[in-house]
Amino acid sequence: MTKILVIEDEESVRENIVDLLEAESFEILAAADGKIGVDLAVSEVPDLILCDLMMPNINGYEVLQKLHSQAATATIPFIFLTARTAKADLRKGMDLGADDYLTKPFTRSELLNTITSRLDKQVTTLKYISKTNKNTARFLPEFQIVKTCLLRTLAKRNLKEFQVHYQPIIDTNSGLIVAAESLIRWQSSELGLISPAELIPLAESTGLIIPIGEWLIKNVCNQTKIWQDAGYKNFYSTINISIHQLIQPDFVPKILKSLADNNLHSSSLELEITEGTIEQDVNTVINRMEELRSHGLKFAIDDFGTGRSSLIYLKQLPISTLKIDHYFIHNIDKDKQKSAITKGIIEMAHNLNLRVVAEGVETKAELNIVRLHNCDRTQGYLLSHPLPVTEFEELLLTNKRLTV
Ligand code: C2E
Ligand code: CA
Ligand code: CA
Repeated sequence: MTKILVIEDEESVRENIVDLLEAESFEILAAADGKIGVDLAVSEVPDLILCDLMMPNINGYEVLQKLHSQAATATIPFIFLTARTAKADLRKGMDLGADDYLTKPFTRSELLNTITSRLDKQVTTLKYISKTNKNTARFLPEFQIVKTCLLRTLAKRNLKEFQVHYQPIIDTNSGLIVAAESLIRWQSSELGLISPAELIPLAESTGLIIPIGEWLIKNVCNQTKIWQDAGYKNFYSTINISIHQLIQPDFVPKILKSLADNNLHSSSLELEITEGTIEQDVNTVINRMEELRSHGLKFAIDDFGTGRSSLIYLKQLPISTLKIDHYFIHNIDKDKQKSAITKGIIEMAHNLNLRVVAEGVETKAELNIVRLHNCDRTQGYLLSHPLPVTEFEELLLTNKRLTV
């Protein structure tokens, strides 16, 4: 029987998870704090751990670090439970080697899907380890294994394992697709599908984000030109850019070369950067952005509202677009505060001549509210998940529209 350890200080949440999982025939161990959790993990060696991030005394980060420092518990799949979608917290957790996260409150199916997909991946990983290096690799944290695979993939220049998916960005008024956000996918032949939440921090910490990012930019320029030539003349794509890419001395010439090689106008790209990115090296980031803007490139602030110094950057940075983080959009129709904050952000952005995109629109009720607040663009599962090229083209060709 699969054994799951639940570490959660809030009794009602803990009991709810335990009841749900016991009904699914998992064997459950429950801990009311981090210390009991670590002790239980060491003595029982569960198959998977669900752990709250914010707990008194030993928090979720410390639990993870303690488990990773011991061979017996280092490879147990570890899923964080967080109270909100604070990207910085999640990024820290993923950097420390967590395998996945769930944002509270989550549904029964979200909980079960996350657990099942993580257990499946662990089986693949263990099979891989037992094939490659029987004596030592068994004790390596999964982070190291994924890193080894990533290095091997890039060393072989096996870039076929990477794919770009596109998620439509819709003009809220007309409901038509006007742009797409490019999102990377890594289908590893050894490990299966690795999510960007896992890939990007790893690629950043190893420097591999540079070759991967270059590959992605070339690919997106090429694809955008194909769509423009097919008749979607004003169509543009957005690309997520990490600080490591932006501060490379040759970042600007490389972007310009990719545009020129594809005969693509610079206004066909919008670069998305997060507030966290800017915070890391404000001066270099501003200089680089100014330089790129002088060549006609546009910028969006991504995940707006989740960083710390948002308003200062609005004044300082050469940006065209704000993307409101899905935290504010999720259940906006039921939450008056989220609605008020979103309305305020949109009005402020319009006064600054910025365009606003609502991220993560999942329901018609949410769409109704962002439309009521005059949000220019929407993006989210309501119209479409991110899609491979051919499926995205079908959406374009059928003129699929988002209507209320
Ligand atoms: P992001 O830039 O905020 O991208 C949006 C994420 O939200 C995507 O996750 C997308 O699949 C997801 N999403 C879209 N609509 C909805 C919705 O309605 N509801 C919910 N809950 N989620 C929605 P994805 O593709 O897993 O990417 C995660 C993050 O990884 C991205 O967040 C971005 O920060 C990073 N990332 C992805 N591709 C790249 C890349 O090529 N380069 C860099 N530097 N970062 C990337
Ligand atoms: Ca983005
Ligand atoms: Ca975002």
